[in-house]
Amino acid sequence: MASILEQITSKIESDQRLTRQEALALFETDDIVGLGRLADEVKRSRWQDRVHFVVNCQINPSNICVLSCRFCDFATKRGKPNAYEMSIEEILSRCHADLREVHIVGGLHPDWKWSYYLDLFRAIKQNFPQIQIKAWTAVEIDYFSKKFRLPAEEVLLQLKEAGLSALPGGGAEVFSERIRKALFPFKIGAPRWLEIHRIAHRLQIPTNSTLLYGHMETYEERVEHMLRLRELQDETRGFMSFIPLAYQPGNTKIVSRQASAIEDLKTIAIARLLLDNMPHIKAYWVTIGEETVSMAVHWGADDIDGTIGEERIMHAANTSSPVNLTRGRLIELIRQSGCTPVERDALYNTVSIFDEQAHCENTVS
Ligand code: SF4
Repeated sequence: MASILEQITSKIESDQRLTRQEALALFETDDIVGLGRLADEVKRSRWQDRVHFVVNCQINPSNICVLSCRFCDFATKRGKPNAYEMSIEEILSRCHADLREVHIVGGLHPDWKWSYYLDLFRAIKQNFPQIQIKAWTAVEIDYFSKKFRLPAEEVLLQLKEAGLSALPGGGAEVFSERIRKALFPFKIGAPRWLEIHRIAHRLQIPTNSTLLYGHMETYEERVEHMLRLRELQDETRGFMSFIPLAYQPGNTKIVSRQASAIEDLKTIAIARLLLDNMPHIKAYWVTIGEETVSMAVHWGADDIDGTIGEERIMHAANTSSPVNLTRGRLIELIRQSGCTPVERDALYNTVSIFDEQAHCENTVS
C-alpha cells in the first residue's frame, strides 16, 4: 500500500487538493525529510530557488493595552515601570530612506485619539513616500471600530486614504474557541478576524495571515485554522502570505519550551502543501531563528521576512534571535542556504534579484 507521502504526491501531481485527513496524516508522519522534499518541489514549481526578504522596520508604538491576554509578555498597564508610548516624531526617527516597509502593531491603547493613527500614517508618507505601511492587525481594526464608533469598513478606508498599504496577519492566533476562552477570552475570535480581512480584501487592501502554534493547540486545530484561511482565500484572493508563528514561552510559561525545529519545519511544509492558493509561505526568523530558517527554505518557505529593526513583542517573550539583521546578512543567509535572494517590498513586488555575485557586492549595505 502506498505511503501517505506517495498518495499525496500523486494527488498534487494531478492538481488535487489535500483534505483535512491528509493534512492530519502529514502531521503524524515520521518522514520529515520526505515531507520537506515534497513541499520544496511545490515551492520550486512556483518560485524556483528564490527566497524573498524585505528591508523593513517593525514599530510597536506602545505596550499599554486594555487587554491582558494570558499568553502575552508584551502588554502592560499605564503607570507600570516598563510601560512606554511613542510619539509620531519618535516613530519618524526610526524610519529612513532605505526602508521599503514599516510593520506597525502594538497594544490596544486606552486613550489615543483616532487622529493619532491617521496623522502617524500621513507623517510617514509625507517624509518617506517610498515606505509602504503595513499596519494594525484585525484585532486593532476591530478595537478602533468599537472605540471610535466607526464601521470597520470606514476605519480601513480612512487608514487607506492616510497611507495604509496592507494589513499584517497577527491576532489570528488559532481559530479555536477552546483556546480563545483559555488564553485570550476578550479578544476577537475567528469570525470577526476573518470578516475584517474579507472587508480589507474587498477594499483592495492586501493582507497577510498567521497561525500561533506550539502552545496548547492540537494538530486538528492547526489544520482547521489553515482550512479556514484557504476557504477565505478561495473567495477573495486577498492574502499575500501565511506565516506560522512559533509561540515564545517567555514568562507566561503556558508551555515550558518552544516547539522543536522539527515542529517548525513540519508546520511550514504542511502549510505549503495544504494552502495551495497562498502565494507566499514565510519562515519568520525572529521566532524560529536563523538556523531553522536556513532549513525552512528547503521545506516549502519562500520568504524569511526582513531586517525588522527593534522588534519588541517577541523579544518581550525572551526570543533568542538578534534584534535586527542587515540586508547583507539576509542575503548571505539565503545564499548560504543555496537559494537566490530576492528583495521585495511590502506587497511582494520585486526590488532586486541577487543572482550574481557582482550585483550582490554592489548592492549590499
Ligand atoms: S496579545 Fe495583543 S491584545 Fe492581547 S494583551 Fe497582548 S497586546 Fe494586548
